[in-house]
Parts: sequence; structure tokens; C-alpha cells
Amino acid sequence: QSLAAIRATQPTINAFAHVAEETAMQAAETVDADRKAGKTLGPLAGLPVAIKDVLCTSDMPTTCSSKMLKDFTPPYDATVVARLKHAGAIVVGKTNMDEFAMGASTETSAMGVTGNPWDTTKTPGGSSGGAAAAIAAGVVPLSIGTDTGGSIRQPSAFCGITGLKPTYGRVSRYGLVAFASSLDQAGPMGWSVDDVAIGLQAMAGYDPRDSTSVDAEVPDYTPAMAAEDVRGMRIGVLREGLDQEGISPAVRDALATAESVFREQGAEIVEVELPHSKYWVPTYYVIAPCEASSNLSRFDGAHYGFRVSDAEIAAADSGPLEAMYSLSRAGGFGSEVKRRIMVGTYALSEGYYDAYYNQALKVRRLIRNDYDAAFQQVDLMLGPVTPSPAFALNEKTDDPIAMYLCDLFTVGANLAGVPAISLPGGFDASGLPVGVQLQAPVMEETRLLRAGNVFQ
Ligand code: GLN
Repeated sequence: QSLAAIRATQPTINAFAHVAEETAMQAAETVDADRKAGKTLGPLAGLPVAIKDVLCTSDMPTTCSSKMLKDFTPPYDATVVARLKHAGAIVVGKTNMDEFAMGASTETSAMGVTGNPWDTTKTPGGSSGGAAAAIAAGVVPLSIGTDTGGSIRQPSAFCGITGLKPTYGRVSRYGLVAFASSLDQAGPMGWSVDDVAIGLQAMAGYDPRDSTSVDAEVPDYTPAMAAEDVRGMRIGVLREGLDQEGISPAVRDALATAESVFREQGAEIVEVELPHSKYWVPTYYVIAPCEASSNLSRFDGAHYGFRVSDAEIAAADSGPLEAMYSLSRAGGFGSEVKRRIMVGTYALSEGYYDAYYNQALKVRRLIRNDYDAAFQQVDLMLGPVTPSPAFALNEKTDDPIAMYLCDLFTVGANLAGVPAISLPGGFDASGLPVGVQLQAPVMEETRLLRAGNVFQ
């Protein structure tokens, strides 16, 4: 059913970079056979799941929506994928994304653009745009995205769904193709908080293969979130940046509505400030490209994926090795990825390292301190996800700075490592969805789910 729905929506939505017709049917048959044989089934037995194409899958391609990895099928499954399969989930395909997860509209993909199911002239957001669109189009109940600076939450907001970025270290990054290793986290996306809780349950937990994964017990999210509501909780509202030009009134309205809902449900609403929030975007856009330039050096034409032809190498003026590296990278990467590599390489180079990268690390510490101080006063923080609802396709493709400013409200959680959730928060005048965001202290995903549960 899910496969048929995907087939029907691909021409207009294009949420998938790869549809796994055969392996999905085989997996479904295995679940069926196990059921008939009376075997104990996993908690997600038979559930169709879509995976962002940045997570390694051994039985289908993993392209990162890049020409660089167009024909690449990894030899192993990412831990997240292995855990979902182990729980019985059926991977129906890999979802479209911005190339190497760099972008906020899924338009930097080498696999074509993805339409927002609410209005196909609008972007679904990014970089996990395909994963969000697959939920909004109703073709899968659960998808897995990744979030380095907002890539789960922003597309969730644009597509009117729920998306959770876990605490850094809560979910294994093993087999997640690295963009910015100190910020990347995979997380679940679905219609409701309940679905996201089920997804997180299957993904979360310590993995010895990821040295930054946290060895802490995973709570039983569904009963834990349902056991309590928000009565007595202190929720701090973040208003910084909301009065700037370009912030859509629908975003302010959604926040005001959310405040009153939580107040009615018995939470105490207070004002809270993160004084360094104006430095979030500049800090992120130094640290993320620096890490990216280092991580992406592995795509050199020799180890993985795309390599230019021998004829092109022979025709080059430089020596064959250098020609292979530089021509393969020039031909394999798209322009946004190249921009990030250049920015990162520049900021890490001798003489600039202290001025940019080191400075950004210091500011990152101040940002984290702001969060620690705020969470001394409040249990959760409530704020916007995006400056506006979904924008039109092509609207920002020629203006990288405008694209980067989409991340105004989301990158703080990544820089601080805290968990955050995007919840459907209403609609603008034209009927496009608007999100609201909750952020919690590290490892307090249950608190996000609890509050999300009373809100939905
Ligand atoms: N839009 C941000 C960027 O382009 C975030 C991407 C992400 O979270 N993967 O870097």
C-alpha cells in the first residue's frame, strides 16, 4: 500500500531519491511468514519507514542526493537503520534531501526538487525535505531525518508534521554520512507526537561504534509521556528575533496560541532569554562548514563514488593524482557543497584558524552557558521554528544568506546539544502550516514529548 502511494505521489512530490520496491516486498513477506509461524514480532513489525538518503543502507543506494555518491551502495547499515529493521520496520525507500544535508529547501539535491504536499509550488524545507514530504503526503507513517542546524524541525514545520531532534549523543551517528560531526543527530518524523515517540524508542540508545553516543538508559517514552501532563511545568518563551523584519505574523500568532494552550493546561509561562542568540547563525556558519570541509575530504575520487574518466585525467595539465582529486571533486559536488568546503577550508587555514574557528568555538561555549542558565529557571523553552511558513520554490536559490537565515531559530539547539521538537502550530492565512518549537535540557526528550502530547 505504501509503495503504491509512493508511486502515485512521486511525479508531483518527488519525496524519494530511491524507492525500494523489491527489498521492501521481501521484508514484508518475511514479517508475514514470521507472523504465520507464530514468532515474536518486533514492536514496529510491518511498519513502512522512509529513511533520509544520508543514512547508510546495505541493500539500497545511499547518495546524500549528490552526484558524488550517485551509484554508491554502502557495505553496511547505519545503526539507526539496523535498529529499525530489527524492530520489524520495513524500509520502503530513501528520501530526497539537500546535497550532503546542506540547505533549507531540498533544492540543492542532485535528484530533483521535492514539492511541499500542501502546495507543490512551495518548498518542503530542508535538508530533510523528502522525509517531511513523505509524511505529509501520507505515504509512510514514520520517516527518519537528520538535523545539523534544523533539518528535521524546519521541514517538519513547513509540512505541518512533528519532528524531533534528539540530544546530541542520544542516537548513534554510526553510518550517518557526516556533515558536521559535532552537530549531526538523526531523529524521527511523523504526524503525531505518539508516532515520533515510537520512532525514537526504536532508534535511541548507546552504540559502542559511535564514540560520542551516550551510555544512558533509554526511557519507555510512550508510557512516560502519557503519565504526566504540563501542570506545574515552567515554560519559558523565547521572543528574541521575533520583531525583526521578515518574520511572518503567522509565526507570532502560532507562538501566542501555543502559549495560551500551555497556560490553559496548567503550565506557568515565563519570559526567558538566551543572550547570545544573535550569534547563533554566524557561529553555526563557521563551525558547520569547518567540520564539513574536513569530513568531505574523503570524497576524492579514489575511495567512494564519482571519479572522472581516465581520458579527462590524462588531458589535465596537472599530474594524474591531483587531476583525479580535483576533477572528481569539481564534477561530483554541487555549488552549495563547494561553497561550504571553501568557507570551511578558509576558516581553518593557518592565520585564520584563531580568528574564525577558535573564536566560534568560544562563542559556542557562551551559547551553551546561556542554555544552562535558562534551564536553571525553566523546564522547557517555547519558541518559533522558522521565520515564515514554506517559501516558494526558487525563491532563495540565488541568495545563500537568505537561505541561511531560515536557521535563525533552530541552530541554537544543535550548538548547545539539547533536544528540540517541532510541533504543528496552526496555519497562515493561505493555509500553509506553521510550527512551534520546544527545547528541553539534555536527555529530557520525555519532557518534550509530554508537552507535545498535551499540545497536539
Ligand atoms: N539549513 C542548515 C544548513 O544548511 C541546516 C542543515 C541541517 O540541519 N542539515 O546547514
